[in-house]
Amino acid sequence: MATIAINLKEGTIESTQDVIVGIDLGTTNSLVAYMKEGRPVCVKDSNGQSALVPSVVHFAENEEIIVGDAAKKKLISDPGNTIYSVKRLMGKSFRDVQNLEGFFGYRILDDDTESLVKVRVKDRFYTPIELSACILRELKTRIEQELKASVSKAVITVPAYFNDNQRQATRDAGKLAGFDVLRIVNEPTAAALAYGIGNPQQDNSGEPETIAVYDLGGGTFDISMLKIENGVFEVLATNGDTFLGGDDFDQAIVSFWLKQLNIEMKILTEEKDFGQKIRLLAESAKKALSTAEVFEDDLNGKTVRLTRRELDTLITPLVERTLDCCKNALRDAQLTPNQIDKVVMVGGSTRVPLVINTVSGFFGRPVFNNLDPDEVVALGASIQADILAGNQKDLLLLDVTPLSLGIETIGGLMDVIIPRNSKIPIRAGRQYTTSVDGQKNLKISVFQGERDLVEHNRKLGEFILQGIPPMPAGLPKIDIQFILNADGILTVRARELRSNLEQEIDIRPTYGISEEEMGLMLLESIRNAQADMQIRGLLEARNEANNILLGGEKFLSQNTQILDETEKTTINALLNTLREAASGQDKDIIHGAIDDLNTYTMPIAHRAMDITIREVMKGKKV
Ligand code: AMP
Repeated sequence: MATIAINLKEGTIESTQDVIVGIDLGTTNSLVAYMKEGRPVCVKDSNGQSALVPSVVHFAENEEIIVGDAAKKKLISDPGNTIYSVKRLMGKSFRDVQNLEGFFGYRILDDDTESLVKVRVKDRFYTPIELSACILRELKTRIEQELKASVSKAVITVPAYFNDNQRQATRDAGKLAGFDVLRIVNEPTAAALAYGIGNPQQDNSGEPETIAVYDLGGGTFDISMLKIENGVFEVLATNGDTFLGGDDFDQAIVSFWLKQLNIEMKILTEEKDFGQKIRLLAESAKKALSTAEVFEDDLNGKTVRLTRRELDTLITPLVERTLDCCKNALRDAQLTPNQIDKVVMVGGSTRVPLVINTVSGFFGRPVFNNLDPDEVVALGASIQADILAGNQKDLLLLDVTPLSLGIETIGGLMDVIIPRNSKIPIRAGRQYTTSVDGQKNLKISVFQGERDLVEHNRKLGEFILQGIPPMPAGLPKIDIQFILNADGILTVRARELRSNLEQEIDIRPTYGISEEEMGLMLLESIRNAQADMQIRGLLEARNEANNILLGGEKFLSQNTQILDETEKTTINALLNTLREAASGQDKDIIHGAIDDLNTYTMPIAHRAMDITIREVMKGKKV
């Protein structure tokens, strides 16, 4: 088994010699890089100024989708239609992110379920995958303009702590943007590669090394401990703070200046333009003080000033918080600071001298920071891409799965368990449950391919897990494991965890399929990515609507005493609208109906809960 590359224009399979790009799909900014004359470079904007594309998507009045700097300008003037920080939503459900409400200036569909988050823009609902695909398309255009050729293969980086769902969502976004995503790489691994760490061509001692990658961006902080041996990277521990970064430094400066000018903090929310102006000035001051000792400028006719010393005092508590995370990661990896061989700095905020000195002091050694900290991850991703293209001879290319493997779930959808290009041997699994009360059997159909509907993929086999003890729907826990061994044999094992009922089959996924056929399957998946995503969106929306309808009907029948006639009629009408929407073809209408129902019933549900609690307190009910 090996990596397969395809030419999207010709529909042919290619050798892996052509360009594969490296993409850093960031929370705040994204970048694309490639190998130019043997060296990794990031692609800059048309003025040759900046390689950073702000990860912001704006939906304009005329339906146009704007990405990057122009979209960022709309954050203040049109926040409801301008989406930022979408990476924080990748692979998450509303329940995962409900505590972040208030952070986002745009609307997230409150469906109070485990299904993946949707962002509401006017009357349309977008998944984080679709929004990320907008950013990736912008990067694709940028690199294609630079190379004057079409580019279809990419390596995309993700944080080391991303789980399977988040990684799969990133792959899907790549596919939707028209990329054949050859590999998802951990950001700290890419950063290390950018410095030649773990690349035998440049670092041939062969000794295992332990490194720390300290990544302080605009809004997030990550620390990762990695062990590198013979070109293989193992993540020993990760830690971090999803709300700590350069933005907090700016905020500290803003508060300091407001105090000096005797202005109350509430001006920031009351006078948005002033708030934006002082924040931008604070960021300029911080950046200037990375090299200068004093900053001075005019703010609406008043002079604001900041020295490096003052800045250091303001941000010391924030930098200390990053050290707490470092200590936690070291503890989890069972390491002490002096056991770390190298420290790599990533992220724009690692330009701050206090950060460099504090981190270097903590680990007791100089840090690696001579590359542009905004670019290291993308540069490393392009080195990884080059390795996959077979251009770095000393690096081992491991055997990988040529096509994704998964099972059929509700509505005929493909649920990928082992993504394409995973290194083998590999073991991966997921838990499922039943959808009907008292269900005794569960059919497990195993498929191979990249399309969203199993009917377009290749069926490898199926079996029935028989004799599940009768339980209400949703209660059984059925663990499905895919074990692909080094010889390419796939064992699919299903086990009901409460009863220990177990069944399995062995399959050879590559049996009876040629490389050409695999290439064609891939090509089809990318060609149909948009249509597939739409049908997946519709099927998932219908499924969610059906669950909510069941819950809604139950709620009505259980709470008749506390509802007045108007409420009953309104809820019934909203349920009917949802029922009708669910039998239609438009997922946005379904989500709209879910949103309307939830918005109306939320206060009633809270009231019902309060009444139940009061009754319990009175001792009436236990
Ligand atoms: P990132 O999320 O990695 O793109 O990092 C962005 C953060 O880096 C923002 O908070 C920037 O203000 C900060 N930053 C960029 N350049 C500098 C600089 N020269 N000195 C200090 N902070 C910087």
